Amino acid sequence: MIFGRTQRKPIAIPAKTVKEWKYSTCNYCSTGCAIELGLGEQGQIVTSRGHAGADVNRGKLCIKGLLEHELFDSPGRGKVPLLRERAHQPFAAGSWDAALDRTAEEIKRIQAQHGRDAFAVVSTGQLLTEEFYTLGKLVRGQIGTNNYDGNTTLCMASAVSGYKRSFGADGPPGCYGDFEHTHCLMAFGSNLPEQHPIIYWRLKEALEKRRFPLIVVDPRVTMLAQFADIHLAITPGTDTVLINAMMHVIFKEGLHDADYIARHTQGADELRALLADYDPKTAQHVCGIDEDRIRTVARIYAKAPRAMSIWTMGINQSTHGSDGVVDINNLNLITGNIGRPGGTSLSITGQCNAMGTREWSSCSGLPGYRQLEKPKDRQRVAEFWGIAEAFFPPARGLAQTDIFPAIETGEIKGLWLVATNPMTSMANQPRIRRAMEKLEFLVVQDVYEDVETTQYAHVFLPAAVWAEKEGCHTNTERRVNLTRNALRPYADSKPDFWIFNQMARRFEDRNKIHYPATPEGAFEEMRELSKGEGRTLDISGMSYDRIEAARGIQWPYSEARALADEARIGAADTRTALRQDFLGDARLYADGAFQTASGRANLIPVRFVNNNECPDAEYPFWLNSGRVVEHFHTRTRTGKIGNCNKFSPTPYMEMNPDAAQALGVEHQSYVRVVSRRGDAVVMVQLTQRVGRDMLFIPFHFHDCVNRLTLGLLDPHSRQPAFKQNAARIEKIDQREAARLNLERRSF
Ligand code: SF4
Repeated sequence: MIFGRTQRKPIAIPAKTVKEWKYSTCNYCSTGCAIELGLGEQGQIVTSRGHAGADVNRGKLCIKGLLEHELFDSPGRGKVPLLRERAHQPFAAGSWDAALDRTAEEIKRIQAQHGRDAFAVVSTGQLLTEEFYTLGKLVRGQIGTNNYDGNTTLCMASAVSGYKRSFGADGPPGCYGDFEHTHCLMAFGSNLPEQHPIIYWRLKEALEKRRFPLIVVDPRVTMLAQFADIHLAITPGTDTVLINAMMHVIFKEGLHDADYIARHTQGADELRALLADYDPKTAQHVCGIDEDRIRTVARIYAKAPRAMSIWTMGINQSTHGSDGVVDINNLNLITGNIGRPGGTSLSITGQCNAMGTREWSSCSGLPGYRQLEKPKDRQRVAEFWGIAEAFFPPARGLAQTDIFPAIETGEIKGLWLVATNPMTSMANQPRIRRAMEKLEFLVVQDVYEDVETTQYAHVFLPAAVWAEKEGCHTNTERRVNLTRNALRPYADSKPDFWIFNQMARRFEDRNKIHYPATPEGAFEEMRELSKGEGRTLDISGMSYDRIEAARGIQWPYSEARALADEARIGAADTRTALRQDFLGDARLYADGAFQTASGRANLIPVRFVNNNECPDAEYPFWLNSGRVVEHFHTRTRTGKIGNCNKFSPTPYMEMNPDAAQALGVEHQSYVRVVSRRGDAVVMVQLTQRVGRDMLFIPFHFHDCVNRLTLGLLDPHSRQPAFKQNAARIEKIDQREAARLNLERRSF
């Protein structure tokens, strides 16, 4: 008897002949995996692989990185500049000169009529660092608007703000290598296996070698929570209550590191005074974790010889985001867990180069973590660029989340969006849509011309992507890594670096600034600007060749240290050097000296004020949002890549089976989710991952969860609360819902 098909047609994988491998760094998430791109006979990219010699990923890639080389000629790529008189009319193709001239004229017209700040620029965390630096030079040094920010306000602003408040400067103090030294890891609102799969793999590898407790704080039973030793299913938005209660226990039971507190911190008395109000008995009723659990976790953490905390959007995307980061830093400072192997406070960043924009884009200040508020910093940069110091504003302007309300009120009339898609990514989309309609002029610069925001644009500038360009990224652990140019830009698209340089020529009537012709030239300027002045962000010892030889170098890495390293190894050609020879500092603050005026870290009391939008009788569910492993951000890229889209083609909503039964909702049926902002139709997935009073929807899809989110802002960071919203469920005709869903997928 013959089973199965009689005429078998086995899948044949065509042999791919690789003529040359080009060094690169993944352009999706902040893990910073090193990738080699395989070029075929004609110079086309035929395959890719994780770089086995890179410390970050050691040859591994996640699904996004594995398929990333398919994006270069994916559908929807912008081919030529597009222009039109009014939004929503048909676009006409134009030359680069026409598009750049029109954009420069509109910026100047708006600024002449309404003031320099009436034109705003919002960029991204996905350009290369040299491009960020160049854009900052153009915006701060020539266009001169103070309303300039990055979409990193949606993901990392609270981490930046919290680090500055605690340590006096931005910059994650730890590294992935800390997993190999820690005795306890506490993860707050971070679902590593789906968000940062290769960081998760590093953690898992460390756990396989040496067991240590993994404690996960998350309202949802995420994939990471399923692997945890202890899962604390916290009430959304109440992390500071839990941490305060843990610190209450630690001080009360004498488990704190009194010596470290005395030598390296300030503010301990004020913190201890506040913590008196956070007895676990009281705190349990607010944060939803019972008092015994709070005590147990506090003891495990404080008694561990080294303990570390990581966090992602569960902390940052909250009205208490900055306070949450400060409180995590407080916890680590009082237990002496900063700057030690396995003892750290490590914010896991979001976008591939969110760190690069924090460091060099001048969005919230001036390059190299300099501040507009400091005359010394303004003077240094003005001198370096050769412009008058008075051209800089004395303090930073609006954050991205304040720019859209300012468009609504008419304060801002024109906008330049660079590689960001607010029509999908911003909270409260109905409000964002109304703001976009009010713009006198919008220019969208993006890899894809079909991004949702382009429908409001007057000019579209097609940008090159990833290895069509050359330059650096900085990852979560401060590692600067390189992408070599592997192929020419698609059609008539141009590298963002070229676009900014061309635009700069059109503003020379304001300030004439020198712009290096190549990204490597811009990197040389950044190296120079990073020297000395006691700053941690020192990249003066790096060069493209050294970075490639080391497969990424962590800052600080000074010129003196690089010269000493070269003398030690005696390598004239650094490309042949072993990667261990150029490592930079794995950790910040190992000496206990912080970037505050006193050199001591700040212990800051954080009092919880409940300003979340909480469920009530009318809207009885918490609505939470997050990520899936196949997609990156608003799917502008992964939505075009066959297998990423095949595995995760449609938005869905996680709902608890008991809650569904009470409402008569079935698995895989469509429902309408309604909030005070709007509604969205999604397919229900019944799962115990969410509690009875919680709904979860991935945030990647257009016209979905961000039609519902409120986006209240953190007072320190201006980051929106995407994860604490109230919603209700309504039943919907299934045929109508399926039609709506198909329409959305065909966008
Ligand atoms: Fe790229 Fe992040 Fe995946 Fe690494 S983990 S391959 S950096 S998306």
